[in-house]
Amino acid sequence: MEHRNSINIINSSFLVGMPLLALFSVIFYSLEYGISWVEPIIFVVFYFACGLSITAGYHRLFSHRTHKAAWPMRLFYALFGAAAFQNSAIKWCSDHRRHHLKTDKEEDPYSVKKGFMWAHMVWVMVDQGEEIVEHVEDLQADRILAWQDRHIFLIGFLVGIVLPGVAGFLMLGGMHGFLGGMIYGGFLRVVIVHHATFLVNSAAHTWGTQPYSTANTSRDSPILSFFTFGEGYHNFHHTFQADYRNGHKWYHWDPSKWWIKVASWVGMTKELHRIPKKSIESQKMKTAFEKKSEGEDVSNELQAKLTQCVLQLRKGFTELVKRRDEYKLAKLERRKESKEAWKRRKEAHKVRIKECKARIAEARKDFKHLMQSLKLDMKGHATVA
Ligand SMILES: [Zn+2]
Ligand SMILES: [Zn+2]
Repeated sequence: MEHRNSINIINSSFLVGMPLLALFSVIFYSLEYGISWVEPIIFVVFYFACGLSITAGYHRLFSHRTHKAAWPMRLFYALFGAAAFQNSAIKWCSDHRRHHLKTDKEEDPYSVKKGFMWAHMVWVMVDQGEEIVEHVEDLQADRILAWQDRHIFLIGFLVGIVLPGVAGFLMLGGMHGFLGGMIYGGFLRVVIVHHATFLVNSAAHTWGTQPYSTANTSRDSPILSFFTFGEGYHNFHHTFQADYRNGHKWYHWDPSKWWIKVASWVGMTKELHRIPKKSIESQKMKTAFEKKSEGEDVSNELQAKLTQCVLQLRKGFTELVKRRDEYKLAKLERRKESKEAWKRRKEAHKVRIKECKARIAEARKDFKHLMQSLKLDMKGHATVA
């Protein structure tokens, strides 16, 4: 593939220079002043503020509109997102929306098909022709984001470099404190947040599983989620980008989703969008089936069975949601009833809920059998061939 790209001097110097600056300044500082408990605290606070501003703010709120956020929240993201030195939200989202629209294609700004390092950081270090800012009219209309876009480098410098310095000055005192805060909460933190974000574009398109779709290179990597505030569940995200969660199960490590959820309790976020369970699991079934059949023609009978399983599963979940809602409503009204009457009604509700769960379990069992017979069917194909 041919790229007529020229090096972007500013970005390249920044991406190469910052790790060197962080390394040498940490060494110098350690030799000169040692380290106390203050520097790591400043590092962690800025790491969280900037990291979450990218994952929950730039990514899930601004790029994908998975929920709504009040202006103090958007301002927070604008300030600390700028401090992450990953460009303005408007430009970041323009690139990211294109990445989803054209994943792995030529137009994908950080397509992993152009190489791991390209997707990781090289794409930032070159000029890919004229800068395209598109499909972000909604963000350009947001006054906070328009303001951030106009003053991105000044805000980044003040919030990302000067502010941690001031924090160090206040906590440790003097030039020593300012340097400590600036080096740990500024330089070192910028590098770590940078590469954590970059890994989502490189590693999460290279290593991991594809339970939800094989249509593109995106992958689920729980390990990566530990370093990226939950962004490692990238195959899920590419399949269901409207969901505010990336790790959809409660035990999936996804601090961004917890942050967004907790913020909703105090009215800072609302309308958190979730993809229904039935859609997630049926998509998983279809993908597993596709993968096992390896793209070969399978008999109509097996195909029909798959459709049946998916239908049963969806029906089961739809019913379950209905029954649970009914039960909730009944609980609210129970005070009007005698203890005995409520007990009977409660039992009846529970039985109906159980029936739905049994139907879902049945669909899952049928699917398991289908997968086994598919395996035999494929073997049959192999011997015939
Ligand atoms: Zn995305
Ligand atoms: Zn991606």
